[in-house]
Amino acid sequence: MSRKQMESQAQTPEPEQVFNRGIELHHYANTAYPLNGVRVWKDFRVKNSAIDSAVESAWKDVNELGLYVHIPFCDKRCMYCEYAVLSGEEAEQKEDYIELVLSEIAKYREIFGGSSKTAVGLDIGGGTPTLAPAGSLERVVAAVLGGYTLAGTFGMSIETTPIIAADLQKLRDIRSLGIERISMGVQTINPQLLRSVGRANNTARIIQQSVHNIREAGFNKFNIDIMYGLPRQTVESFLATAEFVARLGPDYITLYRTRLKGTRLEHETRLVTLDQVNAQYAAAFGLLTASGYDANLGKNTFSKVNGDPGTSAYLTRRVIDGLPYLGMGLAAQSLADGALYYNDGAASKQMVQYRKQVLGGHFPVQDLYLLPPEEIMAKMISVSFYFGYINKDAFQRKFGVRLEDQFPDEVDFLVGKGLMKHSGQLFQLTNEGKDAINGVIPLFYSSGSKRNLMTYTRDAHV
Ligand code: SF4
Repeated sequence: MSRKQMESQAQTPEPEQVFNRGIELHHYANTAYPLNGVRVWKDFRVKNSAIDSAVESAWKDVNELGLYVHIPFCDKRCMYCEYAVLSGEEAEQKEDYIELVLSEIAKYREIFGGSSKTAVGLDIGGGTPTLAPAGSLERVVAAVLGGYTLAGTFGMSIETTPIIAADLQKLRDIRSLGIERISMGVQTINPQLLRSVGRANNTARIIQQSVHNIREAGFNKFNIDIMYGLPRQTVESFLATAEFVARLGPDYITLYRTRLKGTRLEHETRLVTLDQVNAQYAAAFGLLTASGYDANLGKNTFSKVNGDPGTSAYLTRRVIDGLPYLGMGLAAQSLADGALYYNDGAASKQMVQYRKQVLGGHFPVQDLYLLPPEEIMAKMISVSFYFGYINKDAFQRKFGVRLEDQFPDEVDFLVGKGLMKHSGQLFQLTNEGKDAINGVIPLFYSSGSKRNLMTYTRDAHV
């Protein structure tokens, strides 16, 4: 072992310390890995002049992947929004933006050469992609699909808001593109909370109308997102939203814990305690499972369709198998063979650099990191907690090592504390573990990220 490796091991905190610190930083230690890529990954960053060739070589040996297109349009920015959404003058340049995305899609098709890669799914997210004209979405879908062989289980999913879904014709046009899954962000029905997060227009009446329209338009996979962990949200208020949504009867309901990091509500993290969010999740879990929705402990998406996890084809394979994914559009994220990269706009949330790069014939990439396996493992495992478990077989298939051999102390710690248990091919959260998920996840961080966690402060993530 080299001196550098020995030093790094010596400084890596013990599982108990990492766990406790994750609990303390429960607003930050979540499925979005890493906490601070700019700091922890700085030695892995590829210089700008080498990005185009690094992107090409990262995809060379990838045969199967998930696809994502980011459409950053929204009428108004929600207070808790953490995404890249166009604002100001750029918000008016929707047609321009679509042309740029089409050019980026074409550039990938060019390097991939024909339909040599197999796509398992396409997610169109944002923003509110359904705000784009149906004709634009049609061009985007056609451009993407023309470049890939589609897996037998291939499926497309799109996000919407109740306001946009109140337009039945728009939904029919979108459904006619072959998009069979739609996910609508309801978030809350509490009028006070709606006002405080800037979504006062999403009234119960609009939501009911939009649900009716989604069914009329013929979407056969329908998810509704609701949020918990909002500042000033009580357990009762969250439960009222969950009840309302369960009565609407979508195929799936996703409980989304509000991530305040980097949002306009970040200064209010102290108003949201871990006990509160755990009580909210537990109350909704009881209600939804009693209403015919199924999910294992710690899972976000509840499904009433037997054998269907409820997530999109793209996300399901990402979560379970750590499948490579290609994100196109402003600020989109991609993970290929050991390369993780963020498109332009991830930091600035503006189109100017994205436009410049696309028009210059480059990949519009802001940061590209060539990561060692321990970082890729941390990324895959963090995301796998969307489902509340790590699939041990998938881990071994991807990395050629057993989970228990790679993380012996961490696995022992979790089993010993009764936070996770082995269940066939799954290493799964227990009831206690689901309440401590923010302490569990960082146990699988890289050693660099564990050290970063120990010294992390709210202002240090930029
Ligand atoms: S609808 Fe979603 S993407 Fe749009 S502003 Fe609100 S949180 Fe952000």
